[in-house]
Order: sequence, then C-alpha cells, then structure tokens
Amino acid sequence: MAVFIPLEAMAPVRPARATVERGPLPERLVDGFGRVHNNLRISITDRCNFRCIYCMPEEMEFFPREFILTYEEIVRLTRIAARLGVDKVRLTGGEPLVRRDLPILVRSLGDLGVLRDLSLTTNGVRLPEMAQELWDAGLRRLNVSLDTLDPQKFAELTRRNLFHRVIAGLEAAARVGFHPIKINVVAIRGYAEDELLDFARLAREQAYQVRFIEFMPLDGDGMWDHARVLTAREILETIGAVYPLERAHPGPTPEPATLYRFRDGRGEIGLIPTVTEPFCTRCNRIRITADGKLRYCLFAIEETDLKTPLRAGASDEEIAWLIVDTVRGKWAGHAINQAGFIKPQRNMSQIGG
Ligand code: SAM
Ligand code: SF4
Repeated sequence: MAVFIPLEAMAPVRPARATVERGPLPERLVDGFGRVHNNLRISITDRCNFRCIYCMPEEMEFFPREFILTYEEIVRLTRIAARLGVDKVRLTGGEPLVRRDLPILVRSLGDLGVLRDLSLTTNGVRLPEMAQELWDAGLRRLNVSLDTLDPQKFAELTRRNLFHRVIAGLEAAARVGFHPIKINVVAIRGYAEDELLDFARLAREQAYQVRFIEFMPLDGDGMWDHARVLTAREILETIGAVYPLERAHPGPTPEPATLYRFRDGRGEIGLIPTVTEPFCTRCNRIRITADGKLRYCLFAIEETDLKTPLRAGASDEEIAWLIVDTVRGKWAGHAINQAGFIKPQRNMSQIGG
C-alpha cells in the first residue's frame, strides 16, 4: 500500500513574520532553553534505493521533483544559516548518493568557506563508484549505515540484496582516504542482539567507529514499539562483558553519541540512546527536509516552510528571521516516553536522519 502524506499538509506550518523593525539578526541560533544550534542536517532527497523496514514502507511515493530544493537553494540556505552561527552541516536523505551531481553540491558548500565540518550519511551502495569523486569534491567525513554483517539478514532489513555492494563501498571509501568511517547500526531487538560482538570486533580490528542507534518511532510501517528498542545499556553491557569498555570523554558533549573505548586501546564504539536516554537538553541540531521545511527536532510535529518564501523572492534576511523564530520556538524535547507522544507524520526518509 502506497504511503503518501499530502505534502503541503504534512505538519502545521508556521506563518512567516514580518521582518520590519526587528533589529539586527542574532549571530547565534539560541532557543528558549539556552541551547545554541550550530548543527544543520540537510536532506537532499527523499528517494532511496533501499527500503529499510525501520525507515520506509515497501511502496513509497516520492515528492515531485519540483518540490525538492535545488542545489542553488540548498547553498543559499546554508549561507544564511552560517550567518546565524551554523558551522556544521551533514548531508542526508533518503539516500543522498542517488541525487545527480552530488559532488557539485559538496564542492559548492565547501567553496562557501563558512563550514567547519561537512559530512554525509549514506547507505553505501553507490560508494564503489562515487567515493573518489566525493573525496575529490572535498568531502572528508562519512557515515555508512550497515545494520548486520549477515547478507541474508541484510536483505531482510533493507529489502534489497546488496550487502556486498555496501561492503565494497566501505572498502572504496577507506581506499580513497576517508578515516575514520563511522558505521551506523540501528539496534532493533530481534535483529541486533546476536551481532553485537561481531560489530565490536569490527570496531576493534578495523578502523571503523561503530555507532549503535536506538530504534526510533520514525519507521514507515508502524513496526516500532518500545519492546523493539534494543537499549544502549544492554548493548554496552553485552559488549563490555567480553571486551571491557570505558567512557572516551568524561562529561557531556554536544554529540548524541556517547563514545566508549576498549580498555585495551583497540578502537571505540558509540551509543546513541535517543529513546532511553534522550539528549534533548544538549541538542544543537536543526534540519531542513528535501522539500524545504525547517524542523527543530526529528520528532517535531510542526515545521517552517522555507521553500515557498525562498521561491517567492524573500531576502536573505527574511529567510534568516524564519530560521531564528523557528529555533526560538523549539520545544524542550521529544516525548517518546510519555503517554501523549505524537508520532510525526513524516517517516525518517522524509525527514533526513
Ligand atoms: N540513506 C542514508 C542511510 O541510510 O545512511 C541516509 C539517510 S538515513 C534516514 C540516516 C540514518 O537514519 C541511517 O543511519 C539510518 O540507519 C537511520 N535510521 C533510519 N530510520 C531509523 C529509525 N527508525 N530509528 C533509528 N535510526 C534510523
Ligand atoms: Fe534508505 Fe537510509 Fe531509510 Fe534505509 S535508512 S530506507 S537506506 S533512507
């Protein structure tokens, strides 16, 4: 069954506010709780060559092409966000490597000269042919999603029989110089438990940083359930019992991943406990969807339309104020663990993880 959410009605859209007499733009994006936002995730497409069961339904209708931000629009929004203190950008999707001419976008973002960090998350399947071009375009940081080391389970999870392409993609990325490559593993109970030690060994024996992400209620098939969340604590205990671990950094960091290193000094793993230990109080992220909506949280149920004003001739300053106002209106945090939790209408591939 096709899942298609009426696009312009996806979430309440905040009205644009007049920008006259608003004083100078702030240099930083600070919300009502004092959190400073310097980290922007940009989804460049909602399309994907996989259908991961925790992310997308089998049948998916995509945004019409004219809904999708052009590269020029993405670059302009990045430049505006940078004026407001954003200096980290991650490109995501959908699958970013299915969008044509991606290296051109990477180069253009680098050429802005305003980003301290530019990275990309991919399922890895097109890396064998694209790793070199992305490197040449200036990309240096790469996350590759790989939830299992078993080709059969991989086919079940992604609904595509492309395990060996992803492995070839990881190898190609390492060959051209990406280091360290982070591997994202979505930890779903019933799938991940029996491979925790295999992934730990991968992190120990090769130069990958493996990061386990708790399964979030953003799937397209409605399979999420608290009981399906393999918790960060369980992962830590299982791996730590065999390969002793210690915190890599004392105290809180702005990153959602808590890093642990193996006590014998051989590699590290990351845990992203979004569900059981939300890091909302430290959140520094905003997101722009492929169809040009600004979201202050993965789980937000409202969003700000940037694309319409952008295409209607709004000035950089007007767009900047929309971003400022959205961040100022950000909520304290998601309510996954509360009775009143409302699942966003978009699934993960329509937001950009
Ligand atoms: N297609 C690319 C990929 O898979 O890496 C980029 C987009 S994907 C939406 C970004 C990240 O979100 C991936 O690491 C993916 O595993 C993760 N993800 C997707 N659905 C998720 C869910 N329901 N819970 C936790 N992580 C999820
Ligand atoms: Fe595609 Fe990534 Fe979602 Fe898998 S997790 S369906 S690869 S967007």
